[in-house]
Amino acid sequence: MSRRYFVETYGCQMNVHDSERMAGLLEEAGFVRAKGVEDADVVVINTCSVREKAEDKLYSRLGEIGSMVDEHGRRPLVAVAGCVAQQEGARLAKRSPWVDVIVGTQAIKMLPILMRDAAERDGRAPQVDLHPYENVSFPLGLARRGDRVKAYITIIEGCDEYCSFCVVPYTRGHERMRPKREIVAEVEEAVASGRREVQLLGQIVNHYRAPDDPGCDFAGLLEAIHDIRGLLRIRFASPHPRHVTPRLVEAIRDLPKVCRHLHLPVQSGSTRVLQSMRRRYGREDYLRLVDEVRGAVPAISISTDMIVGFPGETEADFADTVSLTEQVRFSSMFSFKYSERPNTLASKRMPDDVPEGVKGRRLAELQEVQRGIQTRLHEEAIGTEVDVLVDGCSRRRRTELAGRSSGNAVVNFPGVPELIGTLVTVSVKRAGPHSLWGEASHRPCKSK
Ligand code: SF4
Repeated sequence: MSRRYFVETYGCQMNVHDSERMAGLLEEAGFVRAKGVEDADVVVINTCSVREKAEDKLYSRLGEIGSMVDEHGRRPLVAVAGCVAQQEGARLAKRSPWVDVIVGTQAIKMLPILMRDAAERDGRAPQVDLHPYENVSFPLGLARRGDRVKAYITIIEGCDEYCSFCVVPYTRGHERMRPKREIVAEVEEAVASGRREVQLLGQIVNHYRAPDDPGCDFAGLLEAIHDIRGLLRIRFASPHPRHVTPRLVEAIRDLPKVCRHLHLPVQSGSTRVLQSMRRRYGREDYLRLVDEVRGAVPAISISTDMIVGFPGETEADFADTVSLTEQVRFSSMFSFKYSERPNTLASKRMPDDVPEGVKGRRLAELQEVQRGIQTRLHEEAIGTEVDVLVDGCSRRRRTELAGRSSGNAVVNFPGVPELIGTLVTVSVKRAGPHSLWGEASHRPCKSK
């Protein structure tokens, strides 16, 4: 009988896509997907270490899985993958006796072999591979995609930016670009399998330079993908503000399939804090960039990431973060309290000196401001029409469909499941802080 696997994922879209690739690798090795952890012979936990909380979650989850024993006294084989695996290595197995395999971020192709070896050794010593394999190629058609409508496509692995708070350069390694021909072939394959939207992924997507086509930058890659028939939408995450070029802004403006949404992580509104973060732009540079982008593409929505309580952040610095938030009017924001991450420059040189209570208060205040902005932006959309790529049924009501506008707003409307995967024009009738509600109009989509 085939052995069953289950992959549990924490963290970002890159982790979600790595899990899709690991699922493909395991299926090629003869495993079949289990319904859940409870009926799996092999459990892979794909981890994130960007925030301290995610790491704590892993250890408690390992404890839960380790205590799952069947009627024969057997427990599943457990593999830990992703950033925590890379960061902690064999220490993971010392802290949790349930770990059989530890596979680093650049070694996921080794997962089936490590699993087989762990099974043969009856789980005695954990199998560990943290090698920084350079090759970023994966066989075409390998990923077992979890979404019927959109496909994640990695274009860059790793990062060389070394922002002082960020663990990614240490866990995902230095920046490596995938060949353009592979990316284009993967988009074609995703479209042929019914996906209508692609999301190009990388730590800094707009740093892309095609290793197999020296003249091709990120805007050039968007142009190449844009020509693929059957593809309706292109998104990407995340660009770095200091690498947004006029050519990229023109590509967003001129290529109809590129969505009118830019996730542009700012991290703080204070130039002083941005300098300590080693972001290499200041508040005014960021605001100027937002003006340029909006000048070229007036309807674009801009979202961001923000950290509060970075070492040395004063009340005045935090006030700058709030005022920048109000000035830009972000369409959405991922906001976090700063937490020290291993190996980073901040953890070595900057004392974590903002008290937890102050961080919590600042985060709550910022989130309240952002919630108000989102509510107002959504209310301003009432009475307009938006083109929605339908990606499934609404979470609340099965008779409602849900999808996203080009600007990335969640839109719900009554409709039949046959519309999933199509673009529908929706008249917006109602708004909340997190989504819009409307009715399908019978006007054909102009798209964008
Ligand atoms: S750009 Fe900075 S924040 Fe983003 S992944 Fe690289 S080091 Fe981390």
